[in-house]
Amino acid sequence: MKKRLYTPGPTPLPEEVMAALAQPMIHHRWPECAELYAEVREGLGYVLQTANEILLMTSSGTGAMEASVANLHSAGESVLVIRGGNFGDRWARICQAFGLEVVSVDVEWGRAVDPRQVADHLKKNDRITAVYATLCETSTGVTHDLQALAEAVASHPALLVVDAVSGLCVEKLQTDNWGVDVVTSATQKGLMCPPGISFVSLSEAARKRIDASTLPKFYWDFKTMGEFCRKDQTPYTPGITVLYGLRAALELIRREGLEAVLDRHARLARICRTAMKALGLDLLAERPANGLTAIRVPADMDGLELQRRIFEETGAMMAGGQAHLRGKILRLAHMGYADELDLITAISALERGLQVMGHTFEPGAGLLAAQKTMFD
Ligand SMILES: *Cc1c(COP(=O)(O)O)cnc(C)c1O
Repeated sequence: MKKRLYTPGPTPLPEEVMAALAQPMIHHRWPECAELYAEVREGLGYVLQTANEILLMTSSGTGAMEASVANLHSAGESVLVIRGGNFGDRWARICQAFGLEVVSVDVEWGRAVDPRQVADHLKKNDRITAVYATLCETSTGVTHDLQALAEAVASHPALLVVDAVSGLCVEKLQTDNWGVDVVTSATQKGLMCPPGISFVSLSEAARKRIDASTLPKFYWDFKTMGEFCRKDQTPYTPGITVLYGLRAALELIRREGLEAVLDRHARLARICRTAMKALGLDLLAERPANGLTAIRVPADMDGLELQRRIFEETGAMMAGGQAHLRGKILRLAHMGYADELDLITAISALERGLQVMGHTFEPGAGLLAAQKTMFD
């Protein structure tokens, strides 16, 4: 059976990336690797819209998140964490693991944070040293209004640290213009690469905090990474193969143009939402993301069973819900190497699953709505 990947990370790989991954190995202290490293950082600066220093790590996205916390703070500091899903929770759990005092802004799963709430917290609490946010909360399919959030944080000395693992190259993100101090992201979502490399961008203010930080770290020490970075190297052996893929992916993005990439995602999300409506399915997200659509499974249906039947019938792999949303939602990604025909296939697969699960709908209604939206 032909398998098709519609999960919000990992995402499908373009042929150019797959070919790049097949190159012979090189040594990481050779000029060829320095060139690769420099080109990748340059390309990441473009997609992050930043002139800030960018450090690369060999890990999945969570590695860059943990490294950021370990490098930005000293024991006992207070941080504000926006929690509206699994990934907001992850920031809180990492901060707690490092002994930080976590003040949380709790957002109902499926809703977006109200930036005024963050501003109020900051006004009341001048001990907060950083605000931890998520651009796209992948567990709920919500994209937060990061620009408004950045405005709310701007007048306070707290750093703004943003998890853009699933938001980068999908949602608008202007790191420098909006004043985002730290962005963390990884290769396996909008960047169309295998998992294996994560990275951070660091503002001047963030770098000052790093100099003062006393939390324990060794492998994840940003100061050591920074010294090597200025020689176009990493302190330890990087995931060279993934770097090859990443360079190729960044080249594809540059050729398409970042604006066009973001427009494509917005368009796919719009088409997907229209199709779900035509199938009589509700969305979870109040402010829906462009990289994935979180669909509420009809109340009388088991979401895990739906997910399994879709795969069995069609080979399409979609994601289910996390934590208390397990079995309650289906997450269909249109992220990275995705186009309109991929979406048609996904909607067809979903209709097939709904049909075998006994959902009442007009077969083809989702496809027709999608196709009509495409012709608009
Ligand atoms: C995928 C993802 C991560 C990172 O998860 P890893 O499995 O560690 O790569 C972090 N945050 C968000 C919002 C994500 O979607």
